Amino acid sequence: MGLYFSISALIIIFIFMIDFFSKERIKNHETTIYKYLLIISLAGIIFDVLTSIWFKLGLDYHNIIYTFSCRLVFLYLVVWGMIFSYYIKTISLTNDKEKKLIKTRKVYFYIFIVLLALIMFLPLDYQEINDVIMPFGPSVVVTYLFAILFLCYSVILAIKNRKIIDRKKLRPIYVLVVALVINVIIQIFFPEAFLISYLLSLIDIVMYFTIENPDIKMIKELNMAKDQAEKANRAKTDFLSNMSHEIRTPLNAIVGFSECLLDHQDLPLEARNFATDIVDASHNLLEIVNGILDISKIEANKMEIILKEYNPKEVLESLGKLVIPRIREKPIEFKTYFSPDLPGTLKGDVGKLKQIVLNILTNAAKYTDKGEIVLHVTCVNDIAKRKSVLYISVKDTGRGIKESNIKNLFRKFERIDEDKNTTIEGTGLGLAITKNLVEMMGGKISVFSKFGEGSIFRVYLEQEIVRMEEDAKEENLTNNQIKTYENKRVLIVDDSKINLKVAIQLMKEYKFAVVASESGFDAIEQVKKQDFDLIFMDIMMPKKNGVETLNDLKSLKNFRTPVIALTADAIEGTEEKYLQAGFNGYLSKPIDREMLNKTINKYLGGKK
Ligand code: ADP
Repeated sequence: MGLYFSISALIIIFIFMIDFFSKERIKNHETTIYKYLLIISLAGIIFDVLTSIWFKLGLDYHNIIYTFSCRLVFLYLVVWGMIFSYYIKTISLTNDKEKKLIKTRKVYFYIFIVLLALIMFLPLDYQEINDVIMPFGPSVVVTYLFAILFLCYSVILAIKNRKIIDRKKLRPIYVLVVALVINVIIQIFFPEAFLISYLLSLIDIVMYFTIENPDIKMIKELNMAKDQAEKANRAKTDFLSNMSHEIRTPLNAIVGFSECLLDHQDLPLEARNFATDIVDASHNLLEIVNGILDISKIEANKMEIILKEYNPKEVLESLGKLVIPRIREKPIEFKTYFSPDLPGTLKGDVGKLKQIVLNILTNAAKYTDKGEIVLHVTCVNDIAKRKSVLYISVKDTGRGIKESNIKNLFRKFERIDEDKNTTIEGTGLGLAITKNLVEMMGGKISVFSKFGEGSIFRVYLEQEIVRMEEDAKEENLTNNQIKTYENKRVLIVDDSKINLKVAIQLMKEYKFAVVASESGFDAIEQVKKQDFDLIFMDIMMPKKNGVETLNDLKSLKNFRTPVIALTADAIEGTEEKYLQAGFNGYLSKPIDREMLNKTINKYLGGKK
C-alpha cells in the first residue's frame, strides 16, 4: 500500500513542479522557500519510492544502497520540517525581517550539518514485525525527535503570531496537524503503510494555493490594461482640451461682437434685447464648457493649488458685484457683511476661492425669486501662527432644498427638482466642483436648507495671514472705467481673422493704434519695423506658436515690450504656465472685458 501512495505523491509533486517552474514568477521569500520545499519533496519521495520497490521485490534490506536510501528518506523528513518551520517564521515576522531571517538561516544551517551527520552515521537497524520491516535505532530516534521538534516549533510560532499571519496562510499548519494525527491512527492499524511522504506532498499542494504567489503574466496583463486606461483617459483630456479650444474660438466672436453691439447707442430696442440674450446665452455656454473642463481636470488630478497674495475683502466684494446682474429684475435685496477683523492680505489659492464663492452666489441668485441674498464673511485669526480661518456664508430666501435631496447635492450632474429647474440653466456640476475645490484647499462646505424657505451654504477655509492691515490702494480706476491711450501702439497676433476682428473691436475705445498680425513670423517682422507698448499673443498658431514667437522676440535686441498670452485652451492653460514661459500676463478667450481693461490699464499706464 505504501508504494502506491509514494508513487502517487511522486506524480503529484512532479506535476506541481512542472507548473511552478514553467511560470514566470515574482521572486520573494515565500516563493523561494516553496521552491526548495518542492525540490526536497521530490528528492525525498524518489528515495521513498526506491525503498518501497526494494522491499516489494523482496531484496536484502541489509544492503548498503537500501540503508543509504532509508537514511536519505529520514533526512528528507527532517529537512522538510525544518524548511516548513522556516516558512512559518518568515510569515510571522513583520519588522526587521531580513536581519532576523539571516540569523535563523545561520542557526538552521548548523542544525542541518549536525542532523546530516547524525542521521547518516548513527546506527540504523531493521526489525521484521508481521512481515513489515520497521527501521529502528538512534538514527530513527533523531529523525522523529527533530521532526516533532520542528513541527512543535511551527505550531507554537503560528499560535503566537496568529494575529499577524494572514489566516489563509495558517491553513497548511492545520492540515499538517490533522494529517499527522490521521497518519498515526493509520499506522497503528496498518503498520506497513508508510504514508508520511504522501501527506507531506499534500501539504505542499495546500501551500501552493496559500503562498504569496503573484503571477507575472497576470501582472503584465494588468499593467497593460492600466496603461490602456491611462491612455484612454489622456485621450479624453486631450479631446476636451481640443474641444474647449474649438468651442471657445467661435464663442469669443459671439461674446465679443454681441457685447460690442450693445455698445451702440442708436441700436433699436428689439435688436438690443436680442443682443442681450445672445450675451447671456453665450456666457451660459461658456460656463458649461468651463464646468466640464474643471471636472475633468479634477478627475485627471490636474488641478493644482496656486498660492497668491490677495485682499479678501476686495476679492469677495467684487464677487458680490458680479452676482447683481444675475438677480436681474427679481425683487431680491443683495446684502454683504465683512467682519472688520478680516486681514488686509492673505495668501491662498484666490482663483479657487473666487470660483467657490461665485458658484454658491450664482446658485443663490438662480434659485431665489424674491427676498434677500446675504454674503456674510467673518474670520478667526491666529496671529501667532499666521493663520486665518475664513467663514463665508451665503444665505438666501429661495426655494430651499428638501432634506432627502441634500445628500445628492454635491454629486456631479445631479440636479434637484428637475421639473422645476427646466427654466433655470445648469448642468448639475457647480456644487460637485465647488466641493472638490473646497476639499482640495483643505476646507469644508456645509449646507442648511428649509424647503420653501431658503438655504445657507457655509464654507470654511484656512488661509495664511501675510499682513493684517490693508494696503493703500494704488489707483482709483474701477474695473469698468475706460481710459484712452492715444499715443500708444498695440500689436495683436492671432491666426484667426475673426478673433483679430473681435480684439480690434474690443480695443477700439482705448484709442491706441492697433496693428494686427496673422502669424508669429509676421509679428516678428512688425516688431523689427516699429516699437510697441503692448503685445497680445495667441498661443495655438500653425508653424510658429505663441511661445516660440515670444522666444524669438526676446532674442531681439532691446526688446522690452510686455507680452500677454491670449489663449482659448483652458485645460492646460493655467496662468502660471504662461508666466513661466516668459509672458507678462494671461487672458483667456473669450476675452473678458473687465480683465482686458485691467491688463491694458496696468501695462499702458494705469499707474501713471
Ligand atoms: P446647477 O445649478 O448647474 O444645476 P449645482 O451643482 O450648482 O448645479 O446645483 C445642484 C442642484 O442643487 C441645483 O440643480 C439646485 O436644484 C440645487 N441648489 C443649489 N443651490 C441651491 C440654492 N441656493 N437654493 C436651492 N436649490 C439649490
